[in-house]
Amino acid sequence: MSNGTRIDPEEREPRAIKIRQPKHTGRKIALAVLSVILLIAICGGIFVFIEYGPEFGSIAKAETESESSESEPSYDSSSVSESSEPDIPEEPVSSSSAPESSSLPESSSEPEIPEVTEPIVEEDPIPRDEWYMLLVNRENPLPEGFAVETAAIDNEGHAVDARIYDDLAAMIAAGENEGLDFIFYTAYRSVNRQRELYESGATDAAPGTSEHNSGLAVDIGCAKGEFEGSAEEKWLLSHAHEYGFILRYPADKVDITGFEHEPWHFRYVGKEQAKLIYESGLCLEEYLAE
Ligand SMILES: [Zn+2]
Repeated sequence: MSNGTRIDPEEREPRAIKIRQPKHTGRKIALAVLSVILLIAICGGIFVFIEYGPEFGSIAKAETESESSESEPSYDSSSVSESSEPDIPEEPVSSSSAPESSSLPESSSEPEIPEVTEPIVEEDPIPRDEWYMLLVNRENPLPEGFAVETAAIDNEGHAVDARIYDDLAAMIAAGENEGLDFIFYTAYRSVNRQRELYESGATDAAPGTSEHNSGLAVDIGCAKGEFEGSAEEKWLLSHAHEYGFILRYPADKVDITGFEHEPWHFRYVGKEQAKLIYESGLCLEEYLAE
């Protein structure tokens, strides 16, 4: 259908107006040339006006600037979400400007936007050199003359660093609320006692290299039956970090910790760090080396 309607006028015209064609083409050419000249003149005028006209030029530039600055936050938020901080499109830092300026050439002249991520990314709100982050292992023995104030945790003579008492007591109480029944196998052990055990061959951990010497570790068992595979163990594995404790010697970290898997040995590192370590899946040595 469309073919028919198009072809008709074309076929008619040559036939009907054959003789006058030269005249018409002459006029048409003149008209075309005129309109081209006019177009060039208009475009040239507009161009000159944009480039050098004071008011219109500045408005046009301002518009392009505001456009580019509007589009940038979306770039920022996408790059921020990579570092898992989607919420804050505020003042960033120059270090992150490199990747952005490559995708947005105009943004290189605007230093404010690239600063969004830095304060959040680089800040480590939880200090790692606190007393509860003390690293004790075969390579890192406690310093000479190490002493700690302890608090008793049962009537069997077990004690821990007094500063972890509250969190340990809260953890045990929470487990008992779930119907669990805990006992303590080992808690704080003085360096002198460690020396006796070491020299008698009862332990292969030299004096000062056992976490029990620090008062920050406790071996927990259940009152009835084996601890391994017990409900007590299961509960501790999923809740100990909420009270600041981590499983210190996991089965898959023996090469790094230097100690065999000890399902009962829990180490205090504070609630915030325990959560991070728990979620990271790292052992303390790996975590501190990060
Ligand atoms: Zn232990």
